[in-house]
Amino acid sequence: MYERSRELFDQSVRLIPGGVNSPVRAFGAVGGTPVFIRSGSGPRVTDEDGREYVDYVGSWGPLILGHAHPDVLQAVTSTAQRGLSFGAPTALELEMAQLLTQSLPSIEQVRLVSSGTEAVMSALRLARGFTGRSVIVKFEGCYHGHSDFLLVKAGSGALTFGNPTSAGVPAELTAHTLVLDYNDPQQVADAFERFGDSIAAVVVEPVAGNMNFVRPSQAFVDELRTRCTRHGAVLIFDEVMTGFRVGARGAQGVFGITPDLTTLGKVIGGGMPVGAFGGRRDIMQKVAPVGPVYQAGTLSGNPVAVAAGLATLRHVLRPGFFDELSRTTATLVQGLAQRARRANVPFSAASLGGMFGLFFRAAPPANFREVMQSDREGFNRFFHGMLERGVYLAPSAYEAGFVSSAHGEREIAQTFAAADEVFARMGRG
Ligand code: PMP
Repeated sequence: MYERSRELFDQSVRLIPGGVNSPVRAFGAVGGTPVFIRSGSGPRVTDEDGREYVDYVGSWGPLILGHAHPDVLQAVTSTAQRGLSFGAPTALELEMAQLLTQSLPSIEQVRLVSSGTEAVMSALRLARGFTGRSVIVKFEGCYHGHSDFLLVKAGSGALTFGNPTSAGVPAELTAHTLVLDYNDPQQVADAFERFGDSIAAVVVEPVAGNMNFVRPSQAFVDELRTRCTRHGAVLIFDEVMTGFRVGARGAQGVFGITPDLTTLGKVIGGGMPVGAFGGRRDIMQKVAPVGPVYQAGTLSGNPVAVAAGLATLRHVLRPGFFDELSRTTATLVQGLAQRARRANVPFSAASLGGMFGLFFRAAPPANFREVMQSDREGFNRFFHGMLERGVYLAPSAYEAGFVSSAHGEREIAQTFAAADEVFARMGRG
């Protein structure tokens, strides 16, 4: 059923490490070979064998309007006709800055980059430059891109500094990164009591989407804000995934927290490479050329990419957009949970805005340890069963899923019909 994809994959592995240009695409976690996508339209993608799928990956989050939205295509083509890149300021960048600062009141100034990795890396350099301190606090299971000092896991005990999770990262580079448990305000308090004067920044996914889907407790995010303020550390909300995805004001709007800096990506590029970091004016004024913290990019604020992002955001910011998207997403996850229950499969699910998590465990997880306790084998069977029936989920039990505004009753019904069959088989063992 996946003949052409298999052929392409066999050829790709000879020329591209693992056959892919980003690791999770390789199906390593779920087994089998990846499907090669030929095209996408609205809520659906078509693979190289001509099979169509309802898509819940959406390019890992950016495609909140679905694939090939006519307004986004129009913005891209008309902008491209005027030139692809200038390396000089454009009015589009100003428009994006206006839109971002108006939508997210915590952002007084903003700088555009080309990826989420770049956004977070730059924000952390800025936080260190602003505070003159070195220590970064992050949380186990949160992903912030692949810059060296963030490829780190917890040390051997609570409040010990982290160890690299990738070869090629010298231990010295992660020696200033403290890794704590997500949703544990006491650990945050303890870390600040002990290292408060050295902590430059706390960086957090304000809804974690890189260990499946984990909501923060209000006490947790409140503690982050209180401690950073008290100790003069910079609170960075990494909203690369959640920005314009869980609500028009991001997770910071949902939880009522004003971070000092915010990082963005994914939706703000509408499927093209755009990232951003921004926040308090006094901090942003430390960025070159006005300040001493260096940061640059040949293609930063690329006009074609920014045009795609602007066209996307104009839709996303319309009144009622998130009400409808949240409703569709909630219908999806509630319907799946109901069907699993009927089939006696241990399962739970959760969502916020257009982002969701499916868990092969009895209740939604609160931290990395609980995520790891889910039934991975169960997820893998579910994943392949759904794929065979034309539903494309993220190929890993540890990734969030995404619904777009193009997903409607037809797609949900198709997903439920597939899930009924797959859960029924799983329930029989
Ligand atoms: N931060 C978060 C929260 C992310 O989800 C991601 C990507 N999944 C990144 C940073 C890195 O973004 P990119 O892949 O665009 O470099």
